[in-house]
Amino acid sequence: MSIITSIQKYSIHDGDGIRTTVFFKGCPLSCKWCHNPETQHYHPELLFHKDNCVGCGQCIYACKESAITLVQQKAYLNRDLCKNCGACIDACNYNLRELVGTPYTVEELFSQIKKDEMFYEQSGGGVTLSGGEVMTADMDFLEALCKKLYRYGISIFVDTCGQAPYSNYERLLPYIDTFLYDIKTTDVALHKAYIGTDPSLILSNLEKLSAAGARIYIRIPVIREVNGNREAMADILRFLKEKQIQVAQVNLLPYHKTGSAKYARMGIVYPGENLHAPTAEEMDTFVALFKENGYHKVYIGG
Ligand code: SF4
Ligand code: SF4
Repeated sequence: MSIITSIQKYSIHDGDGIRTTVFFKGCPLSCKWCHNPETQHYHPELLFHKDNCVGCGQCIYACKESAITLVQQKAYLNRDLCKNCGACIDACNYNLRELVGTPYTVEELFSQIKKDEMFYEQSGGGVTLSGGEVMTADMDFLEALCKKLYRYGISIFVDTCGQAPYSNYERLLPYIDTFLYDIKTTDVALHKAYIGTDPSLILSNLEKLSAAGARIYIRIPVIREVNGNREAMADILRFLKEKQIQVAQVNLLPYHKTGSAKYARMGIVYPGENLHAPTAEEMDTFVALFKENGYHKVYIGG
């Protein structure tokens, strides 16, 4: 079993062609701009749309953990007491409660992915395994799924932050078409401050994957405070060149606040409030910088 938060169909931003993107739950990083906070923890979680709560109190009776009280005529959820059991969901006639994270078997997930095969064939697409950090999910599950997809002829992309044991990448390498590999910054202090770890494992995994012949698209989320300047981009370029990383494509992804509303549903404060997007002109200069350095396929977004 693996815990999946969502399966997004007809996706055109997660690799080549039309793809089905599968979001696995759980991630070892804690990027302050994370667009999918519901994928960070490894277990299912209750989301609550508090703004529309009418304070009827029905959910209180459903909760055996006494995790819900009424505060100023709205339900208040004590997440320290909540066991994410989901019993309060049906009690709410206003559909304000949902459990994010559904367990799937390999067979169940494979059959969901297979449903879209007509679109893959027409567009050169396939499935993208994403998250969260898919490379920290159950590797027996992933290897079985990837083998099955590979034998069936469905292209597999893996969207990864790089923070996982290299042995996990080695296990999947024979089946993966392309890795969508995130680099945020090579600066250790900034990486620790905004992402929660130093970048050494991420960078060394990238080096090993490249040496092993993997096809790699580098994806750089561009955030003014983290890497949105010429020096930071030049540092990333220097790393790619010094380590002779074979890069098939570069995608520069300008920061946006989509996803910040999800934090409220999870009862946490959005940690990226003070982050800023680069301007369109700045993005153009970063594209130009990569092209000057010999990278031909460089795109904004993707
Ligand atoms: S998910 Fe379960 S424990 Fe959490 S508030 Fe709802 S009923 Fe209570
Ligand atoms: S049942 Fe729904 S509307 Fe009623 S108090 Fe609970 S969350 Fe609010």
